[in-house]
Amino acid sequence: MTTTLGAPPLDVLLEDIVRYHRPRKETGAVPRNIPFLAKVPFDRFGIAVATTTGDVFCSGDADVPFSIQSISKVFTLAMALQGGGSPRLWSRVLREPSGTAFNSLVQLEAEHGIPRNPFINAGALVVTDHLMEQTPDAAAHLLRFLTEQAGQQARTGKQGQPGPFIDEAAAAGELAGSSRNLALAHFLKDFGNLTRPAESVVENYVRQCSIMMTCTELAKAGLFLANDGQGASGTVLPPSEAKRVGSIMLTCGMYDAAGEFAYRVGLPGKSGVGGGILVIVPGQCAICVWSPRLDAKGNSLAGTAALADLSDRTGWSVF
Ligand code: GLU
Repeated sequence: MTTTLGAPPLDVLLEDIVRYHRPRKETGAVPRNIPFLAKVPFDRFGIAVATTTGDVFCSGDADVPFSIQSISKVFTLAMALQGGGSPRLWSRVLREPSGTAFNSLVQLEAEHGIPRNPFINAGALVVTDHLMEQTPDAAAHLLRFLTEQAGQQARTGKQGQPGPFIDEAAAAGELAGSSRNLALAHFLKDFGNLTRPAESVVENYVRQCSIMMTCTELAKAGLFLANDGQGASGTVLPPSEAKRVGSIMLTCGMYDAAGEFAYRVGLPGKSGVGGGILVIVPGQCAICVWSPRLDAKGNSLAGTAALADLSDRTGWSVF
């Protein structure tokens, strides 16, 4: 694995990153519409790197499960692109940065129900609808996909067992405050861009967001994007499609702060309001960092700072 000449070994570097970036004072916010996220201790911080050569390095709370939230959107997009499903999907959702909040209604109305990209909520609802045409429980399908890519056993939901799982109680709590996502789904339906009932698409989408995973599992699950589409048990996507998912992460993966993230980190990434960020270093590794407190745009404060530091110290930026 290539790092800048003179950089310390990766395990030492990650320890250092955790020591320096684990939040020491209570800064940043958590989303008010997802009650579960308010309970997570603010000083949690984990980081994991899974390499294309098969190594995994991690530090801090890398093995504590957290709510993946919008990081799920990378994987649902990848699943929707499997098996040549892309032409139909790309007639329903664009690939441009939105320049507005991830859950904005105004843009969807002005643009006649075609979401700007699959990583804002409206776009993810269309992707969910697309997946539900093949598998009505798209969230369970996503869970199986993530479990396989992370190289874990399916989890039954018991504390202490490894592996991704859906936190159904957290999902129910979020669903109770999902008026805005329901409004987006009803707009999509009105414009003819949703085939299933708005309520069932939102319910399924919220369960995808409520999947709990560790940094280590997410880094392993995202590795196919750094590895020409090759995942834990074979081809997930052809190299050209894996490249395109990475491109959309770079331009649209960080809400309305994709430009700032590209400037500071220089790598394709996708964040979630659970405080996780998944980043791809093409050809080399997938990185997942987690720290719960968010900046005003919804990205992990300490996580973004840690990735900027890591990219400076390793020379991993794509630029
Ligand atoms: N479940 C969250 C929502 O739909 C996801 C937001 C996010 O992580 O961007 O509002």
